Amino acid sequence: MTTSISPEFDHPTFRLAVAQFDQAVSHMALDSNLLERLQSPQRAIAVSIPVKMDDGHVKVFRGYRVQHDLSRGPTKGGIRYHPTVTLGEVSALAMWMTWKTALAGLPFGGAKGGVTVNPNLLSADELERLTRRYISEIFHLLGPDKDIPAPDVGTNAQTMAWVMDTYSQLVGFSVRDVVTGKPLSIGGSLGREEATGRGVVEVTIEALRQFQLSVADSTIVIQGFGNVGSHAARILHEEGAKVIAISDRFGGLYNPKGLDIPAIFTERQREKSPLPSFTQFGEPILDEDLLTLPCRVLIPAALAEQITKTNAPKLQCQFVIEGANGPTTLEADAILQDRGIMVIPDILANAGGVIVSYFEWAQDAQRFSWEEAHIHSRLRTIITQAFHRIFQQAVDKKVTMRTAALISGIEEVAKAHQCRGLYP
Ligand code: GLU
Repeated sequence: MTTSISPEFDHPTFRLAVAQFDQAVSHMALDSNLLERLQSPQRAIAVSIPVKMDDGHVKVFRGYRVQHDLSRGPTKGGIRYHPTVTLGEVSALAMWMTWKTALAGLPFGGAKGGVTVNPNLLSADELERLTRRYISEIFHLLGPDKDIPAPDVGTNAQTMAWVMDTYSQLVGFSVRDVVTGKPLSIGGSLGREEATGRGVVEVTIEALRQFQLSVADSTIVIQGFGNVGSHAARILHEEGAKVIAISDRFGGLYNPKGLDIPAIFTERQREKSPLPSFTQFGEPILDEDLLTLPCRVLIPAALAEQITKTNAPKLQCQFVIEGANGPTTLEADAILQDRGIMVIPDILANAGGVIVSYFEWAQDAQRFSWEEAHIHSRLRTIITQAFHRIFQQAVDKKVTMRTAALISGIEEVAKAHQCRGLYP
């Protein structure tokens, strides 16, 4: 069944999410009414956010919060600050969160929020006012048992601290479990910041192991050096892999002998310059050239739709591990499949973030904190078990890892809908 997309959600990323969904459900026998309910968000809100800028004038921003599916528990998903944010993009990301939380067995539905803004152009004070007003506009949707935000592109632990504080001020007492990815001092979790990157590494290790390959003798290319890419690079380097290229929004850095990742971290702490300017570690490289470098593992960990029908025929890797959400277009996916390049999909590969968000939420609710080693090991157990279950499904059903992962997530959600029935 192919979907007609409502105009309010129409966006390339939403079309991608729906096309992937259609592809997966073509292997399943689902009720047509359920299909229709899952193809678009259960709830979506658009808000306008007036912010007093530092120079005294008021600027109005657009913000969104989308709750894609509420059948399995409160909804969960990040808040994105980026100039390209639209309702359609946020809806796609919310849909992916539904499958991601379901396939990992977390008691959440999928959500996502976003504000159309370039956070690099705002001062810290402006960002704080923007965040507080955005949260007060969507306040009635949020809550530890309702919808729990987290960081995403363009937001961080500080943003989440403002989220927690704004919500707490509005209800009149401190609520720690209303948001995850917070600083440790207000109920953040050990291991949360690096969790998505660590999950990407766990999945990479398992994927290589299936083909009798080891991470220690693998060459790795990573697009994106934000919260996902930088930690993935650091942990892969610790595991003995040769990270030969990395990039940020200014471009890449390449060294075929392997980049000295710890030294790059230290240097970046000292000097916040664009990655390509650190020429003492490697040579600058354009982002588009980085994607097609010969390597064993390519990790796109930046934004959506980076691997396209134009560059997919030129990729020279054996594995694509999707650290970002939606980095591969539908056409590119088919090309990679034909070329025998294995793609480990976003909803599995980058699930480490929301898995440790779940631990953070659970610790806050228990008023009890876990040790870091326990968090790492629980994360490893959940993500590697999901990997093996999905790998087996892909083999048994003769489908790609993406389709198998989607089937696994959609099946869980369908079960919840079926046993809860239709209200009224
Ligand atoms: N933004 C992250 C993601 O896309 C984490 C979401 C969360 O922890 O709730 O998975």
